[in-house]
Amino acid sequence: MIRVADATFVTTATRPEQYPREPLPEVAFVGRSNVGKSSMINTLLGRKKLVRVSNTPGRTRTLNFFDATLESRSGRQRVVRLCDLPGYGFAKVSKDERAAWQEMIDRYLTERKQLKVVVCIVDAEIGPTPDDAQMIEFLEQAPPRILVVATKLDRISKSQRKPALAAIVEQLGLPPSAVLGFSATEKIGVTEVWQGVLEGVDG
Ligand code: GDP
Repeated sequence: MIRVADATFVTTATRPEQYPREPLPEVAFVGRSNVGKSSMINTLLGRKKLVRVSNTPGRTRTLNFFDATLESRSGRQRVVRLCDLPGYGFAKVSKDERAAWQEMIDRYLTERKQLKVVVCIVDAEIGPTPDDAQMIEFLEQAPPRILVVATKLDRISKSQRKPALAAIVEQLGLPPSAVLGFSATEKIGVTEVWQGVLEGVDG
C-alpha cells in the first residue's frame, strides 16, 4: 500500500528557468488531450480537483508541477514531484502555437535531469493512436523510463480487459510489465501505477 499523505500544487512553467529547483525525483504525465490525464493525476493523488478536469480539451498550455508526499506501509515518507504536461493532438491551435508547445515539451522531456519516469497515458478502449506511438517512440530515445498506463479501463467489460492490455503491449512492442490498466472512475490500478512509478524512480 502507498498512501498519499499530502499533495500540493507547486508551480507552473513554460521555460527551464521557471522549473522548480529542488532536486526531487520527477514523474511526467503525457497523453493526448481528453485521454483522462487530469482525472488520473487527481485519482493518484486522492484529490478531487487539484488538477482541473477540463471540458475544453487542450487548455492546459503549461507544465504544472505538483508534490506528492507518499507514505509506505512502514510509515516512511518521501516526496515525488509530478509534472502534468499539456495534452497533445488537439487540432484547434495555430501552427505557431503548436510548435511552441512542442518545443516546451521536448525540452522538458529530454533535458530535465531529475525526470525519472514518464507515464504515457493511452485510452484502453481505443488503444495507442499514431500520436501516442510517436510520443512513445520519441521517449525511447530519452533517458527517463516509460510507463504506459491504459486508462478508462472501466469502459471495457471485465473479460476483455486482459486481452485489451495485451494488444496494447503488442502494438507498442513493449515488455508486458510496461503497460498497466487504470480507471479514474472505478479507481482501478492506483497502487500498481504508484508502484511502477516508484520502481522507475528508484531504478
Ligand atoms: P485530460 O484532458 O486528459 O486531462 O482528460 P480529463 O481528465 O479531463 O478527462 C476527459 C474526459 O474523460 C472527462 O469527461 C472525464 O470524466 C472522462 N474520464 C477520465 N477518466 C476516466 C475514466 O477512468 N473512466 C471513464 N469512463 N471516463 C473517464
